[in-house]
Amino acid sequence: MIQQRNAVNYLNPYIPGKPISEVKREFGLDKVIKLASNENPLGCSPKATEAITKWASNMAIYPDGNCTELRNALAEKLDLKPSQLLFGSGTDQILELIAQTFVNPGDNTISAHPSFSRYETVTRIMDGELITVPLDKDYRLDLESFLSHINEKTRIVWICNPNNPTGTIITSQELDYFLEKVPKNILVVLDEAYYEYARGGDYPESLSLLDKYNNIIILRTFSKIYGLAGLRVGYAISNEDIIGYINRVRGPFNVNAGAQLAAVAALEDQDFLAKSLENNNKGKQYLYKAFDEMGLDYIPTYTNFIMVNVKTNSKQLFVDLLKKGVIIRSGDIFGMDDWIRLTIGTPEENEIFIQALKEVLK
Ligand code: PMP
Repeated sequence: MIQQRNAVNYLNPYIPGKPISEVKREFGLDKVIKLASNENPLGCSPKATEAITKWASNMAIYPDGNCTELRNALAEKLDLKPSQLLFGSGTDQILELIAQTFVNPGDNTISAHPSFSRYETVTRIMDGELITVPLDKDYRLDLESFLSHINEKTRIVWICNPNNPTGTIITSQELDYFLEKVPKNILVVLDEAYYEYARGGDYPESLSLLDKYNNIIILRTFSKIYGLAGLRVGYAISNEDIIGYINRVRGPFNVNAGAQLAAVAALEDQDFLAKSLENNNKGKQYLYKAFDEMGLDYIPTYTNFIMVNVKTNSKQLFVDLLKKGVIIRSGDIFGMDDWIRLTIGTPEENEIFIQALKEVLK
């Protein structure tokens, strides 16, 4: 009999947001909206669509394993050396590569709870252990508590900023204090998947910390505001040493060619980004107002999703909303049983969601 590795016994498969096609089939619905996976409700830049359409006749050719065009475009935009960047098939893949590069069996890594679930999986795959630190009373990362959990086996600290699923941030001042205190042999991963939604104000401009700290790596993605989730492109920013180690582990053609071209085009379309941000801000205000009127508490968000307390079992509510053609995330998967997480949609989608929520909570 085939025997799986011991670490595999401790893993659960990732449960993604339900696809629209499946819900249509299951409940015999014509119209279904998905507000479950924090995708961009406006789609992506038409320039990215054009780039991928042009590329379609070139599929026989392997991609550029170095992502040269994308690397140069991004390095210029961020004012970094091209060698400070690493690309992955989504940030998801970069999380795996980081664990494979830095976690030995028996080591530990630290994340908040609830936070992004992949930190645990990628650690366990390497026979490491994830130590979790509860969020504070405001659903924010408790960095003091992170510090007190660090021990001689700690190799990585995962800072999800803004945090998924709560949408909260740690501020620039808090991050700086934390980085001063963290031992310099521990890698601090700043997962900024929602950076473009959060930037400004107290949110850290983490690129400016690269000169000061040699132990940080910043992760960003084209899946969220850029609207390219289906193509799978994410990137890491760090110093050349850290990028160099991860690059030894990375597979040769890990970012597909179409994705590279679309990402370059998306990067150039700042109008699309501005529109997406405006849609998100308006949607956020609309939803806040609706929740206030319904007497529902929510966590003010720095992202394109909101956690709202529905004061009832979220698993049941999830099913009730599905039947009405609305896919959201139930909070039980994050240990927040009475909460749901929803992605901010288009104005029409937000209205459909609120209407459905009112009906199922009646
Ligand atoms: N980090 C966080 C915090 C996320 O929410 C996500 C997407 N769910 C990812 C990383 C992975 O994003 P992607 O692989 O699409 O780049």
